[in-house]
Amino acid sequence: MRRHEGRIISPVRRWYRRHGRALPWRGESDPYRIILSEIMLQQTQVSRVLGAYPRFLRRFPSIRSLARARRRDVVLAWRGMGYNNRAVRLHALASVLVERDRRIPSDAASLLELPGIGKYTAYAILSSVHGLPVPVVDVNIRRLLSRVFWRMPSTADMRDESEIWRMAQRILPRRGVYDWNQALMDIGATICKARRPLCRRCPLTGLCASRTSMTEAPRGARKTEPGLDGVPNRIYRGRIVEALRKKETGFGMEALGREIHPEFSADDVPWLESLLEALERDGLLRLRRGRTLKDSRVVPS
Ligand code: SF4
Repeated sequence: MRRHEGRIISPVRRWYRRHGRALPWRGESDPYRIILSEIMLQQTQVSRVLGAYPRFLRRFPSIRSLARARRRDVVLAWRGMGYNNRAVRLHALASVLVERDRRIPSDAASLLELPGIGKYTAYAILSSVHGLPVPVVDVNIRRLLSRVFWRMPSTADMRDESEIWRMAQRILPRRGVYDWNQALMDIGATICKARRPLCRRCPLTGLCASRTSMTEAPRGARKTEPGLDGVPNRIYRGRIVEALRKKETGFGMEALGREIHPEFSADDVPWLESLLEALERDGLLRLRRGRTLKDSRVVPS
């Protein structure tokens, strides 16, 4: 057993009792609300989810109302969250669960077969909805456990994800596992921050293997995302979805290109097509193909 494995439990619990975040989905018993929060949290920061979560629930207060809605309206209600394919998958998930009389599987393998459910979300549901003693590993927990148990050379480094899942399982306390998972997430998100960890305020400062070894990674150490003219593709994807929200009749290829990028030229059509094909696969639009790319039309799904 690695040094300190058992010794982190008390300081983490003490810290969480005093500093844990009061989030609206914590302590929630309605599985629909829990699943919604977990899917929103997959790729969006808590501060943005805090605004979007109640807004979405006002629009779709139950899983039935969500399953009955038009896909287009669900994507519309997802506004501001980014990664709109999650809205499409959430909608598909609601339909499947309503068909199954709203029974939520209580094993990871069955959960992973559902639309929009990856390993993190499956384990979060087992922990939050079914109260099972399982670990969860999101990016905050991965960063925190990497640093506590291994000497990380720089703030950009993390251990392999599968290694962290094994460690999270090994250090799981016998009781209060839901709170334990939430506590690790909170320390990772608010103290052991990605670029500038607040080691002086950290409850694990005396036990952490990386406390003095890490150098701050330069900004350039971040992976550069694919994009056009310095703007990442994910921003363009959001602009396409937004443009189609405003114009149900859709766009021709070049008109859409100019709508999302003022400098768009005919040379950029293949790039635009690759974005559109990915969005079409995610169910966010339809591409009505003409004889040539130029004649094609993009319409909402
Ligand atoms: S001591 Fe610093 S690096 Fe280590 S877990 Fe705490 S905040 Fe992170």
